[in-house]
Amino acid sequence: MYEWQLNDLYESYESEAFQQDLTSLDDFKIEMESLSFEDTIEAIKAVIDVKERLYITVRRLSAYISLSLSTNATDEVSTNYQNVLSNKLNQLTKYQAKMDRFIGETQVDISKDAELIEYSFYFKETKESANYLLSDEVEETISKLGRSAGHAWSSLQGYLTSQAEIEFQGEAKTLSELRNLAYDTNAETRKAAFEAEIALYDQIKDAVAFSLNNIKSQVLDVSEMRGYKSPLEETLIKSRMSQATLDALLTAIQEFLPTFRRYLKHKARVLGHKNGLPFYDLFAPMGDAKQTFTVEETKTYLVDKFSQFAPDLAEMTATFYEKDFMDFYPRKGKRGGAFCSNLPFIQQSRIMLNFDGSLNNVLTIAHELGHAYHGTKIQSHRPLNWSYSMPVAETASTFNEAIVMNHLLEEATSNDEKVAVIEQYLQDVTQIIVDIYSRYLFETEVFNNRMSSFMFAPQLAEIMLNAQKKAYGDGLDEESLHPYMWINKSHYYSTSLSFYNFPYAFGGLFSRGLYEQYLAKPDGFVEKYSKLLETTTVASVEDTAKVMGLDVSQVDFWRTALSGIETYVDEFIELTSK
Ligand SMILES: [Zn+2]
Repeated sequence: MYEWQLNDLYESYESEAFQQDLTSLDDFKIEMESLSFEDTIEAIKAVIDVKERLYITVRRLSAYISLSLSTNATDEVSTNYQNVLSNKLNQLTKYQAKMDRFIGETQVDISKDAELIEYSFYFKETKESANYLLSDEVEETISKLGRSAGHAWSSLQGYLTSQAEIEFQGEAKTLSELRNLAYDTNAETRKAAFEAEIALYDQIKDAVAFSLNNIKSQVLDVSEMRGYKSPLEETLIKSRMSQATLDALLTAIQEFLPTFRRYLKHKARVLGHKNGLPFYDLFAPMGDAKQTFTVEETKTYLVDKFSQFAPDLAEMTATFYEKDFMDFYPRKGKRGGAFCSNLPFIQQSRIMLNFDGSLNNVLTIAHELGHAYHGTKIQSHRPLNWSYSMPVAETASTFNEAIVMNHLLEEATSNDEKVAVIEQYLQDVTQIIVDIYSRYLFETEVFNNRMSSFMFAPQLAEIMLNAQKKAYGDGLDEESLHPYMWINKSHYYSTSLSFYNFPYAFGGLFSRGLYEQYLAKPDGFVEKYSKLLETTTVASVEDTAKVMGLDVSQVDFWRTALSGIETYVDEFIELTSK
């Protein structure tokens, strides 16, 4: 009961269903070759029909393979099938581009058709992105070359950061083992682990610098060929978000940086530092959370808290425990962290965790269940309307965290417990606001420089330090920053997603803004919230927010979202000043 079941996807790789779906990809190729691209409603419907079936098949196959790999990374059978699938998909790229171009260029009025009208937003979006499509052959070439260009550089970064080891207190430690020690209760351990971590980067920083430079130059080249003004514009378009909204978000963040610095400087003083917090104490735990949970206790706790918000969220939560939709404990070969994978084609989701019974883990489960809840709201859409963009992806998840956090604060009886909960919260929000802001500044600068020069590791380190100084200010000790944060964050190493940073700030603050609204006016909130989640896949970020009467392109919305944080900083300072 502690491991998830994937039987609802396929019984096994050998099963007839899996093998049939895999070979059906070849049939799809034949089917797509014979499609007629006449500009008629019938031809459009035929294309949409193929796209829907193909999309479901591909998602089912890849979900089964990647979920299997996530709990057993070295499984050869899964790795093999992953390769088979990626080869087959590569052969379909050309036809996919052809279909997208057809949909993008059609002159037929689809609003006259009762079925197609559900795809109005999809058609509008495909039409817009068709402007950035290159010829079929070039699209195919980019996709094929990606395997030995961008993807290769990205796997090099993944490989080096997961394989590198260094001796720490007599034992060989990997990067992620050392980074986990940043949360240790012992101050000396945190500092020593940080020093070992920095020393470890020496082994790999030059190679990883090549990865970063080459990925960024590929993004710049392809993005320019497609006709985007910049990689940032490309990200914003793909995120269904306007520059005005990003500007409003960044303005509010800049205004609130002093609040975060107040928290950091106070934390530094309490921990005995004079000139702001050293980077290695950013995650130092404070107070005493004491509470530990068994899996069963997390179920009782979450079902109870969620039922006070929305009955369908509580019901869904119980189902996830009862039907084995979650994989709880760490084991050999299982990847770290936690995630939720929506499987709308079977109206389910799966959640992977590395459960250790801590309070923090309860928040993680709540977070992932939020993603699953979001999944239940979008699965009634037609298949091509199942994907939401990065900025809204973290709405339901962080909203769930806010629900639990609120209860934890109310329930905390001792000072120590309160400090632990508030500090944990401030730590998290500092990451998604201040650290994310530093990452945004860093990536902007790297793209700007890459147009004219190659940046070796020392230069990248300098850009990172400058970004951290701008974001953290005197909150952090200038003598103890982290020059190599660009090495360990995989987000920088993607050719398909640039600026995978501001969406975190957007999501975290957007849900905070929603939560403030819920606290102010709980009546009728859940229905509107439900509608908002449903809208995320068929509207721009701005129009999604309008469902609740919110204007995310205005700085004021973000100010309200951030204002709640001020109260927590005050409370934290008061509680720890006695
Ligand atoms: Zn998430």
